[in-house]
Amino acid sequence: MPAAARWATLLFLLALAGLLPSTGTASLRTVASPVDASAVGLDVFEPEDAEPAPSPFTAAPRLIALARPAATPQAPGVAGTYVPVLYYHYIRINPSPRDLVGFSLSVPPAMFRAQIQYLADHGFHVVRLHDAVMAILHHTALPARPVVLTFDDGYADFFTQAVPMLLGHGFSATDFVISGRMGWGSYMTSAQVRAADQMGFTIGAHTVDHYALASLSQVRALWEMRQSKLTLETLLGHPVIDFAYPYGSFNAYDEAQAGQLGFEVAASTIGGAWHWPSQLMDLHRIRATGGMSLSGYARLLGGPAPSSAELALAGGSVPPASTSPAATVSPTARPAPTPSPSPSPSG
Ligand SMILES: [Zn+2]
Repeated sequence: MPAAARWATLLFLLALAGLLPSTGTASLRTVASPVDASAVGLDVFEPEDAEPAPSPFTAAPRLIALARPAATPQAPGVAGTYVPVLYYHYIRINPSPRDLVGFSLSVPPAMFRAQIQYLADHGFHVVRLHDAVMAILHHTALPARPVVLTFDDGYADFFTQAVPMLLGHGFSATDFVISGRMGWGSYMTSAQVRAADQMGFTIGAHTVDHYALASLSQVRALWEMRQSKLTLETLLGHPVIDFAYPYGSFNAYDEAQAGQLGFEVAASTIGGAWHWPSQLMDLHRIRATGGMSLSGYARLLGGPAPSSAELALAGGSVPPASTSPAATVSPTARPAPTPSPSPSPSG
């Protein structure tokens, strides 16, 4: 499919999922709606260099858009848990302007810095994925404005760009690592994966080879899940209990096996911020896209509009009405807490 057509398809899919900032507040609200969150099932593709060779078993589709039936309706009165689980890919300036897919997956470091500053400024609480899972399972309360940060694929820029910024705020994050790609060009080395784990970040599994699981035989799909778990557990010396489906591709067998293998959560690319215990094997997430404005990011999380200083930090334009000089630090910014990495509770 020509790049332009693929990009148009991606935009269409994202618009359907209500994930584009330009889709407006009304659409964004639907992301957080218990009803709509369970009614939309979209998978999006990932970058060219994360795309696997065709599966030796069946042809892996390059673009996966599974029209999944609506998730199991929740019984009336069963309370869900609201917590947006964001997922990122690269924290980088997209190296090739003509790579529109890469662009959509690349949040520039300055924008990422502005995003986490925004979270800190406005009382968001970055909670660990494990803590969110416990709250979903046991219907316990989370702090106000909770948000979970996840990263897919185990790219090196998670370690070199995101980790230092996250540590500066004492924020946690989970990175789903493709175990067979550690040490490859743009991916973290095994030493970086281990170091991130030891700094308190959570490492999850993301298969060995990054195939679309639903395209594989059951034998191969199970191996991809189990072997990636075992490889990372051997590297880290503790259980790995978080999993993410490559391309958001999975079927009922994969879901069942994820639970059987001991994963406490398996993250999908289905959009939504409301969660129920029955959905932990297809955890809904919200994609942090490249090209998203800080205002769009704020709307995605239901937060207030960013200040002009925050917009300036993001590299955006300061509103014309503002007469204050563009500051590099928000006047409402609080001092960053002392980094206090602690052992990952999910391992
Ligand atoms: Zn992936």
